[in-house]
Amino acid sequence: MRKPVVAIVGRPNVGKSTLFNRIIGERRSIVEDTPNVTRDRLYEETEWLGRPFLLVDTGGIEFNKETKLKDKMHYQTEIAIEEADVILFLVDVREGLTNDDREIANYLRQTEKPVILTANKAENNEQAEMDKYEFYELGFEDVQLVSAEHGLRTGDLLDKIISHFSDVESDPYDENKTKFSVIGRPNVGKSSLVNRVLGEDRVVVSDVSGTTRDAIDTPFRDQDNEYVIIDTAGIRKKGKVIPGVEKYSVIRALKAIDRSDVSLVVIDADEGITHQDKKVAGYAHEQGKGVIVVFNKWDLVEKDNKTMDRYIEGLRYELGFLNYAPVTFVSALTGQRVIEILDIIDYVADQCAKRVETKVLNNVIEEAVAMNQPPSNKQGKRLKIYYATQPSVKPPFFVFFVNDKELVHFSYKRYLENELREAFGFEGTPIRMKFKNR
Ligand code: GDP
Ligand code: GDP
Repeated sequence: MRKPVVAIVGRPNVGKSTLFNRIIGERRSIVEDTPNVTRDRLYEETEWLGRPFLLVDTGGIEFNKETKLKDKMHYQTEIAIEEADVILFLVDVREGLTNDDREIANYLRQTEKPVILTANKAENNEQAEMDKYEFYELGFEDVQLVSAEHGLRTGDLLDKIISHFSDVESDPYDENKTKFSVIGRPNVGKSSLVNRVLGEDRVVVSDVSGTTRDAIDTPFRDQDNEYVIIDTAGIRKKGKVIPGVEKYSVIRALKAIDRSDVSLVVIDADEGITHQDKKVAGYAHEQGKGVIVVFNKWDLVEKDNKTMDRYIEGLRYELGFLNYAPVTFVSALTGQRVIEILDIIDYVADQCAKRVETKVLNNVIEEAVAMNQPPSNKQGKRLKIYYATQPSVKPPFFVFFVNDKELVHFSYKRYLENELREAFGFEGTPIRMKFKNR
């Protein structure tokens, strides 16, 4: 089941990013901080009453510098209409209704998707209750009041948001199909690669029932294995081109990653790693899915026998957080090594789903601790790990029961992760770790 996408739209200064931060609240600190990931405030995975969803602040979408404000609002709204499941339309109750609000409302009225009109800055409740009526002119069913800054009525708003989730369809594919997405900035060769992978001798299964909204997914068979390519912006069908905004729609990429078991992060080997590549790779990493780095256009690179090593070294430096990801060098043009990609996908999908026996796990941890004692703090108190378990997979998740979780340092956590990888592999999958006091 994919996570619903909730997008916040609205003109500048109504409080979109404040509301975004309020909703994700303490969650952000739970998400492990990953050094080197290029962060934008665009999206965050969060949940309410046990319902996970992706929250997107369309104010965080990047445009070319030349894009006019009016156009930005239009495109942000259009992207939300196209990609979100629920749209949160934010206005400012203190400032009242403006022409920009009316314009955004005009776009939003054309969608069938649920739109929740929300008037922010309503900390003065009585006043806001009176002022909210002018927003009924916009033609939406209701006006929700909140104060993002003061955290007032955000719970009611979240209740309302999740009440629309039942409409989000579940994925029609069964467990034994490996779902993968091909992501990367424009022109790195995603569509070419997909077409290559689908080459002549693979059977494209076209009559999958239930694929309505995501009809651009491509299920296919290769020998005994079944796969589904989860489309991102315009792999098969070039998406709507919005001038000034990355043709590559970040939200669509996020949704694709969310529905995938494994993501191929495609990088143009000829151009090298760019800022945008880092972002894309960061999305895959943070969503806890399998990742494979694919350097494409290998045919264009002048090579000697050290070239691959240099690329890998550069990658580990630029995208250090992906050091667990297998790397491959292909050419969609000539087909070089493209055939091996499916094997790597199978392998990584297995690693993501790997479960370690508790006894074996604890042997490894015990040995790791014996080899390298946790450092003690200034008071001489030392971290003690009593035992560890792996409650879940995809990605592998480990819980360590300890004497005092405050004593766990980043560097020791990384050491333990390295030891787990050393012992069990887990190539291509992020690992999640949690420390609990016992
Ligand atoms: P955005 O441009 O829509 O993302 O708006 P911001 O989140 O940056 O907020 C714009 C301004 O409104 C900032 O100065 C916020 O502190 C302020 N603001 C946001 N939410 C509230 C609120 O609930 N009440 C009040 N009084 N101010 C708020
Ligand atoms: P997308 O935007 O990521 O889907 O990229 P496309 O698949 O549309 O490819 C962008 C351009 O790169 C096209 O002109 C392709 O012909 C070219 N291209 C793709 N893969 C390769 C490759 O492996 N080698 C070379 N030389 N060109 C490639």
